[in-house]
Amino acid sequence: MFVRELKDPLICLRRKTLEKREDFKQMVTKFSSAGIINVADLLLYYPREWSDRTHIVPLKDFDKKDGKGRKITVCTMAKVIAHDWAGFGMKRSLKVHIEDKTARAVLMFWKYQEIYKRSLPVGQSFWISCKFSYNTRYGEIQSASKIVYKHIVSEDAFKKQFPIYSLVKEISQKEIESLIKLVLRQYATSIEDEIPLFLREKYGFLPKSTALMVIHSPSKSEELEKAKKTLIYEELFYLEIMIGKKFMTRKVKRKEGKVKSGLQKHLLERLPFSLTVGQSQAIKEINNDMDGTFPMARLLQGDVGSGKTLVAFLACLHAIENMGQVALMAPTDLLARQHAENAAKLLEPLGVRVAFLTGNMKAAGRTQLLKTLASGEIDLIIGTHALFSKDVVYRNLRLVVIDEQHRFGVLQRQAIMDKGGSPDLLMMSATPIPRTLAITVFGDLDVSIIRDMPPGRKPIETHLARESNEAKVYDFVRQRLAEGTQVYFVYPLIEEGEQDLKNASSMEERLAREVFPEYQTALVHSRLDDEKKRQTMEAFRKGDVHILVATSVVEVGVDVPNATCMVIEHAERFGLSALHQLRGRVGRGSAQSYCFLVYSDEYTEDARTRLMVMFENQDGFAIAEEDLKLRGPGQIMGFEQSGYVKLGMADIVRDSAVLEQSRADAFAILEKDPGLLLPENLVISTVLERCPPWEDVIF
Ligand code: ADP
Ligand code: MG
Repeated sequence: MFVRELKDPLICLRRKTLEKREDFKQMVTKFSSAGIINVADLLLYYPREWSDRTHIVPLKDFDKKDGKGRKITVCTMAKVIAHDWAGFGMKRSLKVHIEDKTARAVLMFWKYQEIYKRSLPVGQSFWISCKFSYNTRYGEIQSASKIVYKHIVSEDAFKKQFPIYSLVKEISQKEIESLIKLVLRQYATSIEDEIPLFLREKYGFLPKSTALMVIHSPSKSEELEKAKKTLIYEELFYLEIMIGKKFMTRKVKRKEGKVKSGLQKHLLERLPFSLTVGQSQAIKEINNDMDGTFPMARLLQGDVGSGKTLVAFLACLHAIENMGQVALMAPTDLLARQHAENAAKLLEPLGVRVAFLTGNMKAAGRTQLLKTLASGEIDLIIGTHALFSKDVVYRNLRLVVIDEQHRFGVLQRQAIMDKGGSPDLLMMSATPIPRTLAITVFGDLDVSIIRDMPPGRKPIETHLARESNEAKVYDFVRQRLAEGTQVYFVYPLIEEGEQDLKNASSMEERLAREVFPEYQTALVHSRLDDEKKRQTMEAFRKGDVHILVATSVVEVGVDVPNATCMVIEHAERFGLSALHQLRGRVGRGSAQSYCFLVYSDEYTEDARTRLMVMFENQDGFAIAEEDLKLRGPGQIMGFEQSGYVKLGMADIVRDSAVLEQSRADAFAILEKDPGLLLPENLVISTVLERCPPWEDVIF
């Protein structure tokens, strides 16, 4: 059996020991309320970490911190020197005084005192693993965590890696350990391997049952590493097999033929500039895909300001000249509207029929619009996710473009594909997705990357400024305004809130009245109604408004090249990717641009790191890598929230090398043997058939 097939409920376990039936039942009930119901659940409940008792940590080091800033666990051979008591009556606790070669300390016992007293007699030597802290009242170093000790002199049995589980629902470490031991005793021999033998031999992996046994019981460091490697590889291997299969099925769908005309060329001729190398390369790849036999699924990556919109428009034209319709989806109203305006300017003169659809359109107008869309009188429709509401019907949807795709969840992408006709899909992202994530989350996508910027761009000058120096920043901004450029001011809050932070609404008033009375200011945030937003942005774009005060709504996509100053107040409150996106609103023309990160004195260590990263880096890829280090992968991609894949032991960032190896292996196997029919691959098809991992995930 494969582990995931071991569905016997825990209550059916055979027990040798004389535990009372009732106690056992109670324990099993606790487990099931924590979601651990059967044998498979339990075996796959991997330890959170391992307590390393392989190195001596003497008592005198009790106050040191480990690499992650957590209090260190003392791990030493100690000797009992005395017993006494603290407190009285029922509340009294046993104090066992101990010492090792470096210091003295006290073990505190609140329960089972007689037992401990007997098993730790004065003069006894034993190994101990425990956290300690200094108790100022008694002037003693006292035990500060559950004490693990062994009366053994054999170093060998103690110096191992001990599993530690995340404890849930009042289940104790001991209970988990005892139950797992029981399960392994009974089931270990029936656990089948899931990694094909030739790969297991190639990498020297352990058999599955051994690997499970090792990670669930105290073991030597080398064994544990081997077991972890085995399980991590297995997990990522199947992930890539699933992705690989999806990749292959996409490559077998056919599409109808095409008609050629020269819309793309016309647009390029009308532009006042030529494409960058990155843009040309990207559109070449996109054209190729769209002319090909299979629907395109391509991710276009490029740093903020690299000119992805233009590439998207060219792709739209390609679909339209092939008689198809295009839907272009943006995450915010503001951005969708900007795209619609640009499309009207650039594409309508070429005869493209452009429309704009948002969620809060009036019923009558909406019905009319949907009718023309359904009858094929609209070539390009631009909007938010409203584009894929149930009642929106396309005549012949050929291409779907998703801007700032990282803002959309997996499910929304599925809704789009469900509009039928297997349209080409182009996703764009300015949040550079580190390669390891890209190949996992978007494992079946092709990727184009624009690495260059339009010519003439100067690096944005970034300055860090204390809040107390903001007057200087304002003076600097005044000079820029005098030169005729425009400015953004960004705040973390819309209005006055519970937190004592500057907010966009009050600051707009203040900037308008006190600081820059001679200039026109305006306010934009997510709670304004659509028409107001549109007017404001239009006025800013036209240059009628000089200072735009905003929240992070301007974070994505907004493109006003004449704006060259970005002032972010309470910059310590923003995440790295937001800061990078916000800074990307300037530096879009050939003039020198500036970004001021104004921070107040109350910042965390992390915030300080973020500000320094921004100060030192311009490149979005570098910033994304830093972000990944600071936050871990889940939060960055909405990766965990989207329920895309749940990994047990593997971590796609930490294990990126294994991920790439397993991907290479999986794809090589599928290429050679797409049906997984060869004897050596039989185990893979059997696993997929009998208990596919991530069964409920859309790949
Ligand atoms: P992003 O990749 O962040 O979406 P945009 O598509 O908004 O970037 O482009 C940023 C700006 O660069 C726009 O004002 C656009 O007109 C301009 N631009 C795009 N391509 C070029 C080019 N090849 N040469 C000069 N400017 C360009
Ligand atoms: Mg953009």
